[in-house]
Amino acid sequence: MVKTYDVVVIGGGPAGYVAAIRCAQLGLETACVEKWINFKGDPALGGTCLNVGCIPSKTLLESSEQYHHLKEGIDSHGIHVEGVKLDLDRMMARKEDIVLQLTNGIGALFKANGVEWLQGHGKLLADRQVEITRHDGSTDVVNADNVIIATGSVPIEIGAAPVDNAEGVIVDSSGALDFRQVPETLGVIGAGVIGLELGSVWNRLGAKVVMLEAVEDFLALADQQIARDALRQFKKQGLDIRLGTRVIATEKTGDGVKVSFKDKDGEHEITVEKLLVSVGRRPNTDDVAAPESDLLFGERGFIHVDEHCETNLPGVYAIGDVVRGPMLAHKGSEEGVMVAEIIAGQHGHLNYDAIPWVIYTDPEIAWVGKTEQALKTEGIPYKIGTFPFGANGRAKAMDAAVGMVKMLAHAETDTLLGCHIIGPYASELIQETVLAMEFNASSEDLARTIHGHPTLYEAMHEAALSVHGRALHKINT
Ligand code: FAD
Ligand code: NAD
Repeated sequence: MVKTYDVVVIGGGPAGYVAAIRCAQLGLETACVEKWINFKGDPALGGTCLNVGCIPSKTLLESSEQYHHLKEGIDSHGIHVEGVKLDLDRMMARKEDIVLQLTNGIGALFKANGVEWLQGHGKLLADRQVEITRHDGSTDVVNADNVIIATGSVPIEIGAAPVDNAEGVIVDSSGALDFRQVPETLGVIGAGVIGLELGSVWNRLGAKVVMLEAVEDFLALADQQIARDALRQFKKQGLDIRLGTRVIATEKTGDGVKVSFKDKDGEHEITVEKLLVSVGRRPNTDDVAAPESDLLFGERGFIHVDEHCETNLPGVYAIGDVVRGPMLAHKGSEEGVMVAEIIAGQHGHLNYDAIPWVIYTDPEIAWVGKTEQALKTEGIPYKIGTFPFGANGRAKAMDAAVGMVKMLAHAETDTLLGCHIIGPYASELIQETVLAMEFNASSEDLARTIHGHPTLYEAMHEAALSVHGRALHKINT
């Protein structure tokens, strides 16, 4: 007899596994179909984020930053360090160990919550039936009252630079998280989030990094004042970022790859040992739904959904990277929670205006809400408050007094509209404004909130005070 579940989730990344756990918490009989095979050859949960995304990249960012600090010296603290050596094998082993701990942890959470893991490839058929093709090739079909599709995304490929991670010369992010030697030179196509984070890792470990970015605006999605500051800082660190360049062709040589590109001055060539292609990701909808399911796809292959992530088919939802919105793990997870609660008859909701973005470079970049350029375009009247980390005692003590906080509030209502940070622990600081915006707070609410001293959060406080020209530790203009 064909088994019927309350919910079948296809995909066990941060969108799918969170949805499955929340469904089970709410008393729904839930199964999650996941096909990932990890670097050890074992089936694994956690998706891109845990296996080859957020977690391994942040682990290497942390390790490479520690190495770089010690290598470049912390003499300013009065500490002399000599003989710093890189053990890349150990660094990679640590990364793998953390990945295994976290992905195995999801298996344990599934067991504890009673989520059944159906290992293999899931495909939506007609009438909310799901076909599972196991790793040994055998198939099975289950029924579901509700289906949640969470099949994530894959790297976009470009014809001029075909990726082959196994060969390891022209790679995508998965390949660049797994180099076994520091390349002497690393070319990066696309100076977006992945290019900057992984470019930073290998730059800190000693590679000469050249980044070829197609558009003229650096970090076009970020507030452009912050992006300009970031570009200056990254160039100072030795990242050779060339904007407005188009890669025309690549050719593998015996010891690397020759990259031909065009910019406003004409055609050029560089030769690099390794080349990372990081030009964005696309929704992974390959073979996820049979034609007879009638699932509707929208622009660029994303599954079409409404604001509650319901597709054109009643009882079929899609969440995470496979649908519109930023491709961020926490966005997918919260969509998972929302959909689970809707299925359980509750009022699931997600505030798409308060999703934080973080880029884990040094300094870190983080933001939430509108950028100044978006407010201008949309004709929304606004006030700006800024505060530099150079005037923050804690940042100085940390020897990390670079960057700034920029707060944007409505000129008439004072409601917070956005916050943009470049500086130490921007990833953590941004959460204060995310929470404030969830509560519809004004800049005055933050300005009247007591912030501990000395903390980096005082820069947030001062930026909020600065919206009304009353920062206490900078000269107001
Ligand atoms: P995924 O994580 O891609 O998971 C989808 C899962 O579905 C996979 O496990 C896949 O095997 C499975 N699957 C696909 N098709 C099927 C099928 N037919 N049957 C069964 N299973 C299937 N985001 C952040 O928020 N912060 C970060 O710091 C960050 N860093 C990143 C660094 C890198 C290098 C990369 C590549 C991405 C990073 N991201 C980060 C983005 C983040 O990884 C994604 O937004 C997130 O993983 C999306 O979650 P998801 O569950 O929608 O998809
Ligand atoms: P991205 O969209 O951040 O950056 C891609 C860059 O490549 C853009 O600047 C784009 O202009 C450029 N580009 C596109 N085509 C090009 C071409 N032919 N030649 C040169 N440049 C080209 O994408 P990504 O860096 O690949 O990351 C993919 C997604 O993963 C992001 O959307 C992001 O949401 C997610 N991610 C998030 C984090 C984080 O949250 N810290 C980290 C890594 C990845």
